[in-house]
Amino acid sequence: MKIPRRAFIGSSLVALADGSLAAANSKSGSQKKSGKGVQREADPSAKPPLVISTWPFGKPANDRTLEVFRSGKSGLDAVEQGVRLAEADLSNPSVGLGGIPAAHGVVQLDACIMSGPGHKAGSVAAVEGFKHPVSIARRVMEETRHVMLVGEGAQRFARERKFEEGPAVTPGQKAAWENWKKAQEAEKAKAPNHDTIALLMLSPSGDIFGACSTSGWGYKIPGRVGDSPIIGGGLYVDNAVGGAGATGIGENVMRYCGSFLVVEFMRQGMSPTEACLATLHRIASMDPKGYDLSINFIALDKRGRFGAAGTGQGFQYSVACDDFSKVLQSPGVTQKPVGPLGGNRL
Ligand code: ASP
Repeated sequence: MKIPRRAFIGSSLVALADGSLAAANSKSGSQKKSGKGVQREADPSAKPPLVISTWPFGKPANDRTLEVFRSGKSGLDAVEQGVRLAEADLSNPSVGLGGIPAAHGVVQLDACIMSGPGHKAGSVAAVEGFKHPVSIARRVMEETRHVMLVGEGAQRFARERKFEEGPAVTPGQKAAWENWKKAQEAEKAKAPNHDTIALLMLSPSGDIFGACSTSGWGYKIPGRVGDSPIIGGGLYVDNAVGGAGATGIGENVMRYCGSFLVVEFMRQGMSPTEACLATLHRIASMDPKGYDLSINFIALDKRGRFGAAGTGQGFQYSVACDDFSKVLQSPGVTQKPVGPLGGNRL
């Protein structure tokens, strides 16, 4: 998604040694060296319950997550309900049944959910006609011995459990799809936008939960599955370390197990922002497209630190805790780093 470069809300930007920019609204205000003498503040942190999600449309989802958690429900209930709010918004062209359809004119949804405690995961992909794929994913996790169901099988599973059904496509998206079809026949079709809600929560007891949902790449080949429902691709949670989630061109994330890699970098001692940056640099160093990837990551760790980074200008993400709920601008990367992130840790 192309976003206007907005003011960095409630925070400031600091140049890193690698030429990128990082958030610097640390509550602790502690500083550390980031190589070559450049100082930057530590990643921001907040007291849990702490929720982070992709894009500005993650903000109401974060607020809903906190509200559900404060009402006494579990962390898993909270992240599920947060993502359901985004799925229910039919004006969102990227998540839920308001999404841009696949090339055959029907919306196909991908979603997953993870519980840090028990290292449990559930996932569905290419689901047509159901409003809340994240909840179907949760039932896959809780009621089957499997992790992932796709297409017809996932729909049958959802129908048997009486999940709420909805339209194949909204009237507005159907009209846009008809125009796209005509333009495609004339070879003038533009690539439509796509986004994802990936949402992570750290509970006061130190447990981490995550959920992710998208309608995927607009006008995709029916049956195409992106990174979002892939455990370790679009979402990953390790209760001993932290969690990460992705948005952007799924093909550029899932070939590198992107979210898993972010968590692994945090395990090695990187902060969430550093881990997101290191993952972007790793992928760019291997991919023939270099930094022209259109991918973005969010992350939080067990200590309540959070961060994000994306290719190009970066992207906007949302964070909420007891003290604030806000939209932040992530750092962006466009070139190979020099300094500590360019070393063999990558
Ligand atoms: N990652 C999603 C997909 O590839 C789309 C997005 O987040 O923009 O399906």
